[in-house]
Amino acid sequence: MKIPITIYCSLCKRENTITIQLHDPSLDFTCSSCGERNEGPFDLGFTVGDRILSRAHHELYKKHDPTISIIFSAMAMECEVSWLHHKWEGIKGFVNFTQIKWAMGSKLNYTLYVYGEM
Ligand SMILES: [Zn+2]
Repeated sequence: MKIPITIYCSLCKRENTITIQLHDPSLDFTCSSCGERNEGPFDLGFTVGDRILSRAHHELYKKHDPTISIIFSAMAMECEVSWLHHKWEGIKGFVNFTQIKWAMGSKLNYTLYVYGEM
């Protein structure tokens, strides 16, 4: 899937619209105004859902096609929910919530609703 994104040149600060693939970990483009080569990794927070949402934004505001924009928006939301689910499942696998509950409850006299059993 091609994702058009708007990005600014590091030298002249002018806006460039480039197309990336959904799986690209980094960008590499030459500025259309000054010819400066810009390259670097994407922020780790630039998830697949963000990329698809960027495509939805492009379809709505550049191509004026709200129907496909709605489909891409729904797809982006599903990707974000899935990503968050896997993120929290991973955290749950590393953290012993029982110990946190014990530590918080003994020091703060505070009841937590946590995963796991006592
Ligand atoms: Zn430039």
